[in-house]
Amino acid sequence: MCGIVGYTGSQQAAPILLDGLKKLEYRGYDSAGIAVMDDRGISVSKVRGRIANLCEKTDSGRSVPGVTGIGHTRWATHGAPTEENAHPHISNDGRFAVVHNGIIENYIPLREELTADGYCFESETDTEVIVHLIEKYYSGDVRQALIKTANRLRGSYALGVICAGEPGKIYAVREASPLILGAGSGENFFASDVTALVAHTRNVIYLEDGEFAELTCDSVNVFDCLGHAVEKKASRVMWDVQAAEKGGYEHFMLKEIMEQPGAVKATIAPRIKDGRIRFDELDISDEELAGINKIMITACGSAYYAGCAGRSAIERLCRIPVEVQLASELRYSDPLIDGHTLLIVISQSGETADTIAALKECRSRGAKVLAVVNVVGSSVAKLADYTVYTWAGPEIAVATTKGYTTQAAVLYMLAVYFAERLGRLGESGGLTEELLSLPRLVQQAIDMNPAIPSLAKKYHASSSVFFIGRNTDYAVALEGALKMKEISYLHAEAYAAGELKHGTIALIDEHQPVVALCCNPSIMEKTMSNIIEVKSRGAEVLALTFQGNQKILPAADDLLFIPEVDPLFSAVVEIVPLQLLAYYVAKENGCDIDKPKNLAKSVTVE
Ligand code: GLU
Repeated sequence: MCGIVGYTGSQQAAPILLDGLKKLEYRGYDSAGIAVMDDRGISVSKVRGRIANLCEKTDSGRSVPGVTGIGHTRWATHGAPTEENAHPHISNDGRFAVVHNGIIENYIPLREELTADGYCFESETDTEVIVHLIEKYYSGDVRQALIKTANRLRGSYALGVICAGEPGKIYAVREASPLILGAGSGENFFASDVTALVAHTRNVIYLEDGEFAELTCDSVNVFDCLGHAVEKKASRVMWDVQAAEKGGYEHFMLKEIMEQPGAVKATIAPRIKDGRIRFDELDISDEELAGINKIMITACGSAYYAGCAGRSAIERLCRIPVEVQLASELRYSDPLIDGHTLLIVISQSGETADTIAALKECRSRGAKVLAVVNVVGSSVAKLADYTVYTWAGPEIAVATTKGYTTQAAVLYMLAVYFAERLGRLGESGGLTEELLSLPRLVQQAIDMNPAIPSLAKKYHASSSVFFIGRNTDYAVALEGALKMKEISYLHAEAYAAGELKHGTIALIDEHQPVVALCCNPSIMEKTMSNIIEVKSRGAEVLALTFQGNQKILPAADDLLFIPEVDPLFSAVVEIVPLQLLAYYVAKENGCDIDKPKNLAKSVTVE
């Protein structure tokens, strides 16, 4: 959600800032701005809408000269997405410019105090209190002013700051919002995530909450809230620039759908050796494992649905009760959690605010925390007792695809791994062959559905679509419906197939197409009955089933296919045709597929 970049070096800052902001566009935003500094002071350019407008306004950065600057894409939380409310915000004396990601929860009393002190506010944002506080506390030492300011703030903030009296210096502050430093040669950077940095440097430094950084072209200094220097080690980012580019695809989403066989393989294959799963990153003792009497999975959005998909594999194999709860609900639910609960937290970005809050709540009640995360060094990874990375590579499209499938793959592996360690696998054997076949099956699911673009033409104009299924089919239906909603804006609703007649079947008629998931042979006949029920009420049925399933032919109007897959692990394969369907429907509807309206990639506010 929102993005921050900062640059200091010998090149012109504005084009680098604009380019960095473009790389962060995927995070979601509604307005943007940059502040660049030269000997004459700070100049600010802001626009409502896209970075392209900012490029136009600044002649691609040429009209704002200077080698030091900060940039921002805003996802409005306080105040409408207008030019006035866009960042950077400037202090009344013009000395400081600030960009901010997050929310200042106590901004109202601070605003009152600063107004009484005589400071003038030019925006409706919570952010603006920060820049006036810095001015208020500045008496020649920016570090001290930042420390004093941070002491007054409650909430979440990643800040980028420049000071007109200090050419060549950029400051960064982090508290519960993502911000990393990039160390180059003769130039240094900060940004909300690695995608904005890899074109310039692969050496990154992860800031911790409560840390401040002061960067010049040839120095990176980090200090704590008392101003004491903190030793930091740089990490090397392993992926390259192409990984964060479209590589010939029309959209990142399509590229990421196509990357899934490789991503799922990167998640699974290195963790299977000699027919057994190994999680070197999990040092859970046998005693600890045996003491677990409940697994709670928590997450938001698609990660939550990945949890729903993984739940039955864990329960069936480990025979431990699994609950899956939305993080935004769990955090306020006074949950029944203790030292015998294993909390599995799932987040692609590792920065999801609700998920972090739920994690902290459950941990305070004694739960051990296992994080399933994609972004290395993210907040969730740092807070957890154990972290399993999904190794999906950078995911740029706001609607997740490979993030979801790799999360589900990790849960499947955990199910087998824990069950084996608990001695509960029994007849199932190691199940590693089934897991190792998933990348190939995902590829087949992509290849065996060439009709999806024309099916999208048939269904895109519907006003609403139902997705139905049972058990794992239902879990996948939830994610399939979410994909449809978030990128094509077509109303979609997932329903457990057996629930239809308890009310919702009243909505079924010839204008209400139904996507029926029917991929588990053991409950196929049950779902078939539900398909026939909706067909009898006039609905067109688009059935998703395994190839060669003749039985379904009379009931379905159209078909999507997956290859035969062990139903225990089928979500990873089953979701693929539904991702493609949502993609092509969105394309038919002319939607901005990679950046759906009102959505942000990593939701760093509550
Ligand atoms: N809360 C701030 C605002 O509304 C920052 C939002 C953001 O993270 O982009 O301006």
